[in-house]
Amino acid sequence: MSMHNSNQSPRRRAEGPRGVTILGSTGSIGVSTLDVLARHPDRFRVVALTANTQVERLLEQCRQHRPQCAVMRDRQAAGQLEVRLRESGLATEVLSGEEGLAMAAALQQSGIVVAAIVGAAGLMPTLAAVRHGKRVLLANKEPLVMSGHILMQEANRSGAELLPVDSEHNAIFQCLPGGYRAGVPSPGVRKILLTCSGGPFRTTPLAALTGVTPEQACAHPRWAMGRKISVDSATLMNKGLEVIEASRLFGIAPDQIEIVIHPQSVVHSLVSYADGSVLAQLGNPDMRTPIAHALAWPERIESGVRELDLIEVAQLDFERPDPQRFPCLRLATEAARAGGTMPAILNAANEVAVSAFLGGTIGFTDIPRVIEHVLSRVSMSEENELAVILADDARAREAAERFIVGHPGRLKRGVQ
Ligand code: NAD
Ligand code: MG
Repeated sequence: MSMHNSNQSPRRRAEGPRGVTILGSTGSIGVSTLDVLARHPDRFRVVALTANTQVERLLEQCRQHRPQCAVMRDRQAAGQLEVRLRESGLATEVLSGEEGLAMAAALQQSGIVVAAIVGAAGLMPTLAAVRHGKRVLLANKEPLVMSGHILMQEANRSGAELLPVDSEHNAIFQCLPGGYRAGVPSPGVRKILLTCSGGPFRTTPLAALTGVTPEQACAHPRWAMGRKISVDSATLMNKGLEVIEASRLFGIAPDQIEIVIHPQSVVHSLVSYADGSVLAQLGNPDMRTPIAHALAWPERIESGVRELDLIEVAQLDFERPDPQRFPCLRLATEAARAGGTMPAILNAANEVAVSAFLGGTIGFTDIPRVIEHVLSRVSMSEENELAVILADDARAREAAERFIVGHPGRLKRGVQ
């Protein structure tokens, strides 16, 4: 895989617009990606769009972007979409299920695949895109946390380009020296500074955290995102997952990654070099910037994002995260240090806990409790093959679900 394969653009131009598949097109990242693509019909062509169950939204996107193929993971939803597309007189081919997602990721007409499904569900389609040598824009961080080394190995084999879209990782990518390769350490880097807004509960009194609702947790002060990542941003598990994501992408030990709370979300991350230089990437908090950057890289294109006005920002604050307020950070750091399948176990436990919180079964402060329980009970494997990772992911989910079902009184105390 390479991130320095920079001399393709003239050839691309001559061949016309580049085909793009968006895995998870109805989500927050998917919609932002379509917004950027629609600004550049000369460069990009939407080839395939995919969603889980949202028929109406995917239908609307098909009407607007005329893809050759649309995939619904849910088979019943796929049937409905097919009927609605024919009623609309559209010829878009409809696929369904896991295999439909993998086919959309592998389509020969798509040179670019945007991985924007949420959670572990994105792993197999992302892997399919990597195996088929695509330029893969990685927003979906969970597959990297679970099996980053497998994605890197497969990319090395196929020549796929892995480009980070997560805003912090895209910022770091922009601050690293040219010639950087995913998974390989860059010379002269002393440390990576990952910035973090602190989420909606940065200053909420600790005692009030047990009672916060999903709506409060999803009301992020700086970014409008899907519900799962919004909860992760409120617990700071998102930052914990991002430490693991950064260590995989940039070939750097978790201990060389420092988290800095930066409430304005203007500095998206920094790279500190041996000579004392610290490089940062700044911009308004809008995912269309990293998406446009990775779509056109190494060129620069319009993204629709408002120019940063430093005078208006006026002040940039930085502080250390409070470990007592954010126990998920410690859990993620422990899992990162343990290595093996521990990050996959952490991720699976977190996915179950977040979904239980969003469903009203457990309280906000129960999320780290569930994860801590799973980390202490589910044994990890040193081996890191895909089958082993998936088996440990399944064991972690079972353990988390059993714990939640087994402690109905103690958990959910916060929302009763
Ligand atoms: P979202 O919930 O808004 O959208 C998720 C998309 O995935 C939807 O299109 C949905 O239909 C699809 N999907 C959900 N479950 C699926 C399943 N089981 N099978 C197939 N498709 C499924 O999420 P989002 O906020 O766009 O985030 C997507 C990914 O990008 C996440 O991994 C998140 O961590 C990462 N990310 C998001 C942001 C952001 O600003 N939203 C920033 C950085 C990274
Ligand atoms: Mg991020």
